[in-house]
Amino acid sequence: MPLVGWEVDGVVYDLDQVAALARAGELVGGRWPAEVLAVLADQPRDPYRLRASDLGGCLRQKVLEHYEPYTLRPDDRWEALVGTGVHAALARSSDPDSLVEVRLSAPLPVDGETLTLSGQIDRYHRPSRTLTDYKTTGSVVRVGRPGPDHSYVLQANAYAWLLRQHGEDPVRARLWFVERQGSVSRATGRRQVRSRLVEVDLMDPKAFEDRLIEIGRTLLAAHREGKLPPALPADHPFCRWCPVVEVCRQLEQESGGAG
Ligand code: SF4
Repeated sequence: MPLVGWEVDGVVYDLDQVAALARAGELVGGRWPAEVLAVLADQPRDPYRLRASDLGGCLRQKVLEHYEPYTLRPDDRWEALVGTGVHAALARSSDPDSLVEVRLSAPLPVDGETLTLSGQIDRYHRPSRTLTDYKTTGSVVRVGRPGPDHSYVLQANAYAWLLRQHGEDPVRARLWFVERQGSVSRATGRRQVRSRLVEVDLMDPKAFEDRLIEIGRTLLAAHREGKLPPALPADHPFCRWCPVVEVCRQLEQESGGAG
């Protein structure tokens, strides 16, 4: 089940309402241009398609989003959209040595079925065989300490896996965190944008592929047998922004906490 509406300041506007407001050139909730929200609606996902960015997130959420109606807050989506804009701007510069903002996909056989893993590579520099993933952030002060988040490690390794499936041989991966908004330096009076490079260890290719297959198996069990992946602890940061949190908790309760 795809996104069914947008929530603005506690009021839910279903997609038909948003479309009607867009035709009239109105705002949603008095502050979001309806025509903008109308084109941001998620498309239904193919359950056999796995995105590199899904790997480190909550698999239970990905499954529930597929079957349950959900709404989103544009306020929660905005930061990601700004990041998408940065990627699009960087992709406009051509670089003959690099693959820039290329979408790759490859089949992933799992127990007699075939899933597809896809991902958008921000930049792969062929001469140095280096993969760089851009991450826009509010502040770089705490990023990468003590190391990259597990979700980013899986994502970067998935990009490396995809590159290998397409004949490349990456040896290095790094995340470039850059603040969305700079600040004015007290010392110089000039604007500064802080950024930080964080190295990501590339896993042994076979070990990573085994991990991918394990994730694929979990998803297949959910879609074929209705066996939901387990819920994360209630105070997990992913749950704070989860659009299917209510149904997740309800199902967990009904199953006696087993998920
Ligand atoms: S509430 Fe938490 S555990 Fe449940 S689906 Fe959402 S992110 Fe996953």
